[in-house]
Amino acid sequence: MSFNPDMDIKYVKLVGEKRAKLFNRLDVYTAGQLLRLFPRTYIDFSASVSIAGAKIGEYCCVKAVVDRTPTGVMIRKGMTIFKTAVTDGESVMELVIFNNKYLAESLEQGREYYFYGKVTAPMGRLQMDSPVVEKADAPAGLRPVYPLTAGLTSRGVANVMKNALELYKNNESEDIIPEQIRHEYNLCSSRYAYINIHFPSCRADMLAARKRLIFEELLCLQLGMSRLRGAKEKTGFVISRDVKSEFMSSLPFLPTAAQVRAVSDCISDMMSGERMNRLLQGDVGSGKTAVAAAVMYCAVKNGMQCAMMAPTEILARQHLESLLKFFEGTGITAELLTSSTPAKEKRRIKASLAAGETDIAVGTHALIQDDVEFSRLGLVITDEQHRFGVGQRSALSEKGSSPHVLVMSATPIPRTLAMIVYGDLDISVLDELPPGRQKVDTYCVDSTYHQRLYAFIKKHLDRGLQAYIVCPLVAEGEETPLTSAEEYYEKLSENEFSSYSVGLLHGKMKPKMKDEVMERFVKNEIQLLICTTVVEVGVDVPNAAVMLIENAERFGLSQLHQLRGRVGRGKEKSTCVLITDAKGEQTKKRAEIMCSTNDGFVIADEDLKLRGPGDFFGSRQHGLPTLRIADMLEDTEMLRKAKQAAEKILSDDPQLSDRKNEGLKREIRRLFDSVGSI
Ligand code: ADP
Ligand code: MG
Repeated sequence: MSFNPDMDIKYVKLVGEKRAKLFNRLDVYTAGQLLRLFPRTYIDFSASVSIAGAKIGEYCCVKAVVDRTPTGVMIRKGMTIFKTAVTDGESVMELVIFNNKYLAESLEQGREYYFYGKVTAPMGRLQMDSPVVEKADAPAGLRPVYPLTAGLTSRGVANVMKNALELYKNNESEDIIPEQIRHEYNLCSSRYAYINIHFPSCRADMLAARKRLIFEELLCLQLGMSRLRGAKEKTGFVISRDVKSEFMSSLPFLPTAAQVRAVSDCISDMMSGERMNRLLQGDVGSGKTAVAAAVMYCAVKNGMQCAMMAPTEILARQHLESLLKFFEGTGITAELLTSSTPAKEKRRIKASLAAGETDIAVGTHALIQDDVEFSRLGLVITDEQHRFGVGQRSALSEKGSSPHVLVMSATPIPRTLAMIVYGDLDISVLDELPPGRQKVDTYCVDSTYHQRLYAFIKKHLDRGLQAYIVCPLVAEGEETPLTSAEEYYEKLSENEFSSYSVGLLHGKMKPKMKDEVMERFVKNEIQLLICTTVVEVGVDVPNAAVMLIENAERFGLSQLHQLRGRVGRGKEKSTCVLITDAKGEQTKKRAEIMCSTNDGFVIADEDLKLRGPGDFFGSRQHGLPTLRIADMLEDTEMLRKAKQAAEKILSDDPQLSDRKNEGLKREIRRLFDSVGSI
């Protein structure tokens, strides 16, 4: 029989119908997937300790003789516990085996074995539960420990794996990584890799196998993402007159070095004749809008129209206002187009965009509606990119013929990860805040502090400053003790804050109402704004110096950071208070991180660690497949190499149609099939 990676697992020797179902639970349906069921870890039997030397609470390997034949006690139907004692001549340890009659009966009295497991000491007596067992005279080496499900043991999986590998070894199919790449990056063959990832005879062999498999997975990921995003394109929109310094010197502040760098990156992209595809990452308050304005200025002065898309009305309006200020006296025209723009006004703006009379359109997703046309759309900017799907972004750029694309994100993520998530986007980072920004002092307290906090806010309002109180969204029909923003607003405006001007802002209000409220907050006609996360993105009111976040446990780390970014924008010392009565580990950890740092990159990093990349991005929207062996956060060096290799492969063979790349192409499809995006 030959090895066919698509063969149903039930045909692998020792599997069969019943065990196949168990493997299915581990997401293993085929022989190929079985080979990629990688060990979770390895037991090194050469590193055994004496029973007395075992550390309580830790996993270790003990070499010992079975003292007596295990005896079983059925404690309830379907659960039998086998117990025995083992000794290394000096000390004794209890062994407890759950429900594994086969293992228990295989242990011979007087014979020496290796036992691997966690050592505990209930009532002062050393004990090891559910050990992995190996005869002491078995050949040395590392034993794989597999991810398991009830009914499968690591040894059982290992035996099945041996059979699959036996088949695989006889298989003549080629290595999917082309020879040349393997050579260049010093990678072992796939045959060697599969044998040694499962049954390495030493650590070095296992590491070599791992390296190759991680590389392969990341290479496929990179290739897949690049193909998803499309290759570099020529464009007719080229900047020939670089007028950025004209604009930069007109700014009311000195741009930061990072801003200057980012603008230069963009302009040189746009001078190249190829279409710009760039991600601008910058923490909240790092000044992305000014960068966008500088790039638009150059674009317009070189004859292009620009579109800037924001995720909310409020933000779009604020962008327009900032741009109008930046462009005063330059002759550049900009208009706002959102779903709440009155019909007549909309018609006028659309006509003016189509005729090429208006230079810049700022708006929400209304901008991507079918009947919005431009005459020479050369630059598309999306703000707070993480809120838009890949699809929406490309719908906007299809309104021009190959316009330049700049996406801005305030969720800073590690550069290496950004490389994958944003495929072939180039990246500029604003890693510096404008001078004079102060750290926002952050505290976490429970709800018994409410009255003290209200007094704290009043003190600020009395000095002419403003404050936010953020409430979590309450889903309809949700039964929780949470108060909605509306109820909270009523309570505070009638009681504690009756002598102050209090406003309410939430997502379900009509856009016009939202704008009015925001407008009044900007003008300090509203002193205290009770709101939901609608203020999360972009809103810029430098006079606001306090933010309370109610039920902070309901928010993710990055979201808390975004919210906090609404304060600390002015000269005043600002404070953010997280209020929560939740006692969970995650909540505690999040609060600790928030209180200890203001650095968005650190926070995003921690958020990723807490949630994992899948959750962090919502894998569906971003089309990130699940990785089996590589870790996007740990294997960054390998990621860089894989990216380099992917670029090389694609530049020689963009369609992956060469015979030597066939295997890779198949593998990419398999990897991305799970997310259905290629
Ligand atoms: P974000 O990156 O969060 O979108 P903004 O573009 O809203 O940040 O900028 C935040 C505030 O900082 C704005 O009021 C803006 O005018 C101001 N700003 C931007 N760049 C600088 C700078 N170099 N020096 C001082 N203030 C700046
Ligand atoms: Mg912004």
